[in-house]
Parts: sequence; C-alpha cells; structure tokens
Amino acid sequence: MIHNLLKVRHFIPDDHVNTIYDININYLKSEGKTILLFDIDNTIIPYDIDLPDDKIQSYFDNLKNAGFQIVLISNNHKSRIKPFSEALGLPYVFSAKKPLKSGFKKALKRLDEKPNKQSITLVGDQLMTDVFGGKRFGIDVVLVKPIKQKTEKWYTKINRIVERKMLKRIQKRFPETYDTLNLHTR
Ligand SMILES: [Mg+2]
Repeated sequence: MIHNLLKVRHFIPDDHVNTIYDININYLKSEGKTILLFDIDNTIIPYDIDLPDDKIQSYFDNLKNAGFQIVLISNNHKSRIKPFSEALGLPYVFSAKKPLKSGFKKALKRLDEKPNKQSITLVGDQLMTDVFGGKRFGIDVVLVKPIKQKTEKWYTKINRIVERKMLKRIQKRFPETYDTLNLHTR
C-alpha cells in the first residue's frame, strides 16, 4: 500500500480540536502566529451548506480584529469556493491540490508580504490533504474533526480509509502523541 511509503511524522498535527471554535487563538498568538490558512469543506462548513452564517462571519471578523491575516485554501472548485470566500470578505485559493505545495504557495501570494513559515498555521479536517500538505510545506497544522462525513465525496471517502490506517500507524509508532492529541476521538 502507498501509505507504507509515507513518513508517519508528516501526518501528525500540532494540535487536534473538535471545531474551529475550540482553537486556542491566544496560544497561537503567543507562539507568534499571524497568518491562518483555513480549509473550508468539513472544517468551516459541511458539503451541503453553501454560505457562511452569522456565527462563522463573526468568528472570522474576530480573528481579523485580533490581527490575523487569513486565507481560505480548498481543493474544491471555484463555483463553491468563490461565493463562500467573498461572503466572508477573505482571500482564497480554489482547486488547491493539497497535499501538493503549489496551492500553499498560491495562498501566500494572497498576502501583502512574503511571510515567515513559522508565523503560519493551517486549520483543516483531513490527515491526507491538510496535515500531510501543511507539514510537507513546513507549517503548523491544527486538525479539526470533520463536521459531517456522510455528505463527503467519493475521493474524500477514500482519503478517510487511508486516514484511519495512518491513525493506527501513529498510534503504534507515537503512542504518547496519539494520546495527547486525543486522536482516538476521531
Ligand atoms: Mg476539508
């Protein structure tokens, strides 16, 4: 299987939380993070929702007011990502091809200045695209639990199967990290 070729450490997030609302923003600030990249599908909204509600709007307004620069980065297509991002007034990258690096590079071009990678955290719900992509690119990743897996597309369902195998490998190789991050709750 292909997952045997992949290094386990590239699939270990820096933190694991239930939802975006559980991210410790003050901690990220204290760690010098100023740029947040967010996945969209099943991280901010489930697949069967198109536009942000008031709760999402105020969450991102608060982040902006707290001084964070935000870019949305999604593998989904333009017709879904553009209206969602524009409703929030946030820059975005669609068809990002995570875990490849090209989408991350595009996301950084949406910023005013070229940032230091240590100042960036990616927030996403998938081990195989978000965590793997972010770690390969050299940035921190906060993994959230997927909002609703039922409505995921076929290729994401395949990613989830590989994800479960990878979680078992993490548990075997890095049991303490697995426990600390509560990865058994996924
Ligand atoms: Mg996602």
